[in-house]
Amino acid sequence: MKESTQLVCAGRHPERFGGVVNTPIFRASTILAGSMAEWEEMKRARAAEEPGATTYGRYGTPTTHAFEEAIAALEGGYRSLVFPSGLAAISTALTALLSAGDHVLVSDSAYSPTRAFLERVMARFGVEVETYDPVDGKPIESMFRPNTRVVYVESPGSETLDIQDIPAICAAAHKHGAYVVMDNTWGTPLYFKPFAHGVDVSIQAATKYIVGHSDAMLGVVTCNRDTWPLVRQTTHDVGQTAGPDDIYLALRGLRTLAVRLQRHWQSGLHVAQWLERQPQVEAVLHPALPSHPGHALWKRDFTGACGLFSVVLRTNAKASLAAFIDALEHFGLGVSWGGYESLAIPFTPGKGCTGSRWPYHGQAVRLHVGLEDPQDLIDDLQRGLQALSMHESLTEKTDKAENEDAGAEQVCAT
Ligand SMILES: *Cc1c(COP(=O)(O)O)cnc(C)c1O
Repeated sequence: MKESTQLVCAGRHPERFGGVVNTPIFRASTILAGSMAEWEEMKRARAAEEPGATTYGRYGTPTTHAFEEAIAALEGGYRSLVFPSGLAAISTALTALLSAGDHVLVSDSAYSPTRAFLERVMARFGVEVETYDPVDGKPIESMFRPNTRVVYVESPGSETLDIQDIPAICAAAHKHGAYVVMDNTWGTPLYFKPFAHGVDVSIQAATKYIVGHSDAMLGVVTCNRDTWPLVRQTTHDVGQTAGPDDIYLALRGLRTLAVRLQRHWQSGLHVAQWLERQPQVEAVLHPALPSHPGHALWKRDFTGACGLFSVVLRTNAKASLAAFIDALEHFGLGVSWGGYESLAIPFTPGKGCTGSRWPYHGQAVRLHVGLEDPQDLIDDLQRGLQALSMHESLTEKTDKAENEDAGAEQVCAT
């Protein structure tokens, strides 16, 4: 089955639900057995992990199982579990694999709440957390210790968009007996196949493209056969469960993922190429642009790009950045991404990564290119850049002191 067909079919069993096309929303805590024999059979089926077995709402209903079945198939993993948010998926997977005394390597451009979870929570339970620079750092081979249990990767990295050599990291990790856990939200289950590249656990913040409409929070963990028993057990032990209404929205979003992503990819690249030609722009960080340092790896390992990338402006003045952002009408100012609408959010790369390798000088903005007409988005950005230039020339005229400051900063902005 080709992927777009799989997106339509995966996890669907209309024959079980009176022919209804979409798996209905099952709201349930208690699930009744008709007899003692049936109760014993329900318990047996769940203990044997039979797909679709239900005993209690917390362990999932047919709505839950439809979604988990679909994601496991699309990611190419063994089994999946759904969580109430992307971060809940991440924290539970890491809790399942790490114990006191273990060492975990995490890339410095991973989603910052993930690093905060490791540094603030796992560290309290005696896990040694070490951050690595995925671009210019020491070779990953040299960072393994006898107690290294997990390498946590996110490629491309949040905000900085750096691409990592996932197959090489997986080979090194497996040689040292460590698991590789990957946040695959940017690649989605369509554009990066984590298990084919050696990853042991893949995570989706389904809140983003899978839900796709900015109206629900959800996460998914997909495991290979080795990691499945560990992740499943801990998920049940800590009581993680997601609501059926949100899962229904994710299933509904999933059916149109291929067409939406195609458009996000095309429009995003079109906008990125246009931005690269603008004099007010220092750099555009989009893995599908040949100028991107990770372009060759992206081309080798990914089959597409989503609509999320970053742009570095030439100006280093916060007020000029504000003039740019405030002039935008189609790009909303807010966190998250993956919905149908465009977003722009400033970020400070020094905070997000170790900073030493960040070669840029200007203010950085992460853009999400939505499903609007790309020409309207370009016109919007043009308006923003014009407001930025206007602000810069006004400041030059009216504030000599500030002009000297900005001038000094601009010297490094080549
Ligand atoms: C948003 C995001 C998450 C967290 O997802 P939530 O559903 O917001 O908890 C994790 N990883 C990445 C890369 C994200 O962008």
